[in-house]
Amino acid sequence: MPHSPPKHPAPTDEHHPLFDTHAHLAEDEFAGQGEEVLRRARAAGICSCLCVGVSAESSRKAVEFAEKHGLPAAVGIHPNHAAEATNSDWEAILALAKHPRVAAIGETGLDYYRRYSPPELQQEYLRRHVHLACASGLPMILHCRDAQEDILRQLRSFAGGNTLHGVLHAFSGDQRFADECLALGLHLGFAGNVTYANKKFDVLRSVARTVPANRLLLETDCPYLIPQALRGRRERNEPAYLLYTAAFLAELRGAPLEQLALTTTANAQRMFLPQSAERLPTPPPLSLAGQDSQQSI
Ligand SMILES: [Zn+2]
Repeated sequence: MPHSPPKHPAPTDEHHPLFDTHAHLAEDEFAGQGEEVLRRARAAGICSCLCVGVSAESSRKAVEFAEKHGLPAAVGIHPNHAAEATNSDWEAILALAKHPRVAAIGETGLDYYRRYSPPELQQEYLRRHVHLACASGLPMILHCRDAQEDILRQLRSFAGGNTLHGVLHAFSGDQRFADECLALGLHLGFAGNVTYANKKFDVLRSVARTVPANRLLLETDCPYLIPQALRGRRERNEPAYLLYTAAFLAELRGAPLEQLALTTTANAQRMFLPQSAERLPTPPPLSLAGQDSQQSI
């Protein structure tokens, strides 16, 4: 089914802002441009962005950026950075997790596509992040590339029959993977790749069409995954361009953009700004396999 949302969608009104739930705003690509990037985001109707760290250093910067601009942050060590992480890096993440601006743990997960870190090490870091998220009552930001079976197996064993609180970000799996993630209690975050013209993204579009609205989150994953309408026309993605993905998804789901904005922003606020909404109950303790193996890796 062809979809042709407006090439340059008009921003939603002030009562229906969008929330970018995954933005790497403290990375070098945005150095010195924070103010103008956020000004363009506000003009495009974006009310908040979760600043996501991928290493100890990048998490420190994400918290600093979040503090300066009144945004929430996520701290963690991305699976692609696990191999270079030291014990003191993990200590830094544990300390940063207590910062009042920190609203989530991650990003963490498994990446068997790039394999910059050995799978066993990625799994160990995933376990640490899930443990930290549950211990601190914060949601987890999960990344998964070519590792669906392993991440499901790991998450199921961590959850031990309970549900997990967090998001599978930049979701790119099929319906079965989506259903398994939803059954674990996770939200699904959709980024610019859902707009890509290539037929191979039809599977992703069919998932995005039917995800329950109360589990849906929007994100840019900037500077990556720039929406189709801007590919080749802009150097990198940024929060303002979330509007393109939102308009595309609204069209795909047959819902007004304002309604999609209202629902997804409410979902994001419940997850990442619980102080401004109702605080979620702390999840029950997890049964973590190998919990006593905290030795250095
Ligand atoms: Zn990311």
